[in-house]
Amino acid sequence: MEQELSVLEQFKRKVNPYDSQQVFARLAGGTVDDITPEDDIVLRWHGLYQHLPLEAGLFMLRIKLPGGALTAGQATIVASLAMRFTAGNISLTTRQNIELHRLTLAVLPTVFAELQAAGLLTLGACGDQVRNVVACPVAGIDPAELLDTTAVANALTAVFIANPAFANLPRKFKIALSGCAQHCVPNGINDLGLEATRDSNKQLGFVLQVGGGLSSHPVLATDLGVWIPVDDAVEVVSRAVEIFRDYGNRTQRSQARVKHLLTEHGIVWFRQQLEERLGHALLSRDTPAVAALQQDHLGINPQSDPALVYIGIPVPAGMLSSDQLQGLAKIASVTAPGRLRITHQQNIILADIPHEQVDAVLVQLAKLGLPVNAAHWRGSIVACTGKDFCNKALVHTKAAALRLGEALDKKLPALPISIRMSGCPNGCAQHAIADIGLQGTVTKGDTGIEERFDLLVGGGNTTGTQAFGRKLNTRLRPEELEGEIVSLLQRYRNEATDNEPFSAYAQRMLLPDVHTE
Ligand code: SF4
Repeated sequence: MEQELSVLEQFKRKVNPYDSQQVFARLAGGTVDDITPEDDIVLRWHGLYQHLPLEAGLFMLRIKLPGGALTAGQATIVASLAMRFTAGNISLTTRQNIELHRLTLAVLPTVFAELQAAGLLTLGACGDQVRNVVACPVAGIDPAELLDTTAVANALTAVFIANPAFANLPRKFKIALSGCAQHCVPNGINDLGLEATRDSNKQLGFVLQVGGGLSSHPVLATDLGVWIPVDDAVEVVSRAVEIFRDYGNRTQRSQARVKHLLTEHGIVWFRQQLEERLGHALLSRDTPAVAALQQDHLGINPQSDPALVYIGIPVPAGMLSSDQLQGLAKIASVTAPGRLRITHQQNIILADIPHEQVDAVLVQLAKLGLPVNAAHWRGSIVACTGKDFCNKALVHTKAAALRLGEALDKKLPALPISIRMSGCPNGCAQHAIADIGLQGTVTKGDTGIEERFDLLVGGGNTTGTQAFGRKLNTRLRPEELEGEIVSLLQRYRNEATDNEPFSAYAQRMLLPDVHTE
């Protein structure tokens, strides 16, 4: 039965998503008042969201990097665009995108022409399409990896980009691939997660997880119980996206994710649908999934070519200046073929560095203000875009995360504990899977509406710790976070059993009396 379409869905049916050049050219000579609802859909499909206040006519542009990969030449272009057309701010995201902020309508034709010439993608970076296909950032260079997922990530990107059959989904669709030794990709919070594993005959393939997602009602993906040969991955994922396209809720946008489809129809229905569309049964898996560790790839690491290393560089709060990105591109192009990667924790990797050049590179990185041995907490806290640039944000995050990191570095040693800060329940910093998650909220205080944070503990997305954090404390002022976290972590250091992860400690000692709202 045909669904009753929401107003937005009705607009979407009137729009040609590939009509961007005509739309950009028309809007470039106009003002924000010239943007029609149909234009807005085209802009979103091409990676653009409008900043608040809307009347300012400024936009965020998201650039998709499949698997987080970009070349030195592409990094130079992005840095140059940021330098010329923004205040020079560049954000790295947890889904391996790069975001530029405060672009005007007038510069969009130039920006898109330069990105296109550099082979950089924005189509599907926002809007109701398949978003950036994320994958392990050390794919193809990790000496211990199970599978180099680069070819699959690129093939999936090619299938969904500029393909009318997938141009108008009920909402966004997120795909993740993991193949490195430590399974650093948080597959379980994506609509589809493919995790490389071997079957009992030692053949490489993927475990398929379905229906994960964050926001105010986070859900961990369900294991479909199948094993997919690597060569079948693109076909299987394409048919799975079709199921969402055909059955996703187009009446109520808040119900339009795969997790809601599974709630309505169940995982058995999803597998049946998939098998019907494939025209054959899927192979049931006969081996367990691989243990996930979900660490980032920081520091100096061996590369598959023993003559080379890759260097993982902490980028505090995922913020780079255009000068820093240009500097990174220069190092990459001088010392190596020029391969850079964005990680899932908003950091950056320089690949292909010859051993004899490591010391010189470390000096250059420190001069850029990106020391590899950055202070632990400042370098490790993940923070979403927040109120500086995101029109859904309740609070400012980037500066708050940097302040918190600096304060923690004065009081605590480095600990293997993740802290993630999101500016609203949408959870773009993935705070629900952090050891300590901070979610922005507001309250009415003496001075009017005040920014606050709810503090969650006990989240994890590694084998044995898979859980979403739960609220331990609510409406903390930004300046109270340091004291709360120091006291929590001191308690953890005193009370945890040997090698007890923080998430397990939190479940045992901090959360038993906490009831979810
Ligand atoms: Fe914006 Fe909220 Fe996402 Fe942060 S979590 S980037 S505030 S939508």
